[in-house]
Amino acid sequence: MPECEICGREVSEVFEINVEGAQMLVCEADARGKEVVRRYGSEEERRQPKAQEMYEKPGEEEIIDNYGEEIRKAREKLGLPLKVLGEMIAEKESTLLRIEEQKTLPSEKTRLKLEKELGIKLTDRVSGKKTFVSSKKNEPVTLWDIAKEENEKKEQGE
Ligand SMILES: [Zn+2]
Repeated sequence: MPECEICGREVSEVFEINVEGAQMLVCEADARGKEVVRRYGSEEERRQPKAQEMYEKPGEEEIIDNYGEEIRKAREKLGLPLKVLGEMIAEKESTLLRIEEQKTLPSEKTRLKLEKELGIKLTDRVSGKKTFVSSKKNEPVTLWDIAKEENEKKEQGE
């Protein structure tokens, strides 16, 4: 429960008042007769959907699902034994085998070397995903939080 900045009482409804240019969050009694800028958080409002932001995640490079198969196909096309490829990119034959069998993911360095030597692309750009974010993890964002954040911003002169 938010507390009134004047009397310290816990209140379900908060009023943002303007006191000589400074914003304060106070209870209804203390807001009386003052310049009320906004009113927050009646129980009704607080039960409303959380204030969440939708944002478009930029596309990211992701390793393709069948990377092992792609490596093997490209390698066989070039007639390169695993051992030789391993020597070319300074990787252990056993490591490459594990990658081809998709038992392990190549490190970025190895992936780049494989892509270069084999002339293949092992990543795919995944399209932007819409993700829900909340400013606090797993906590519902209440109107009180928003009011407080806005107040903090004001205090920092933003
Ligand atoms: Zn009060």
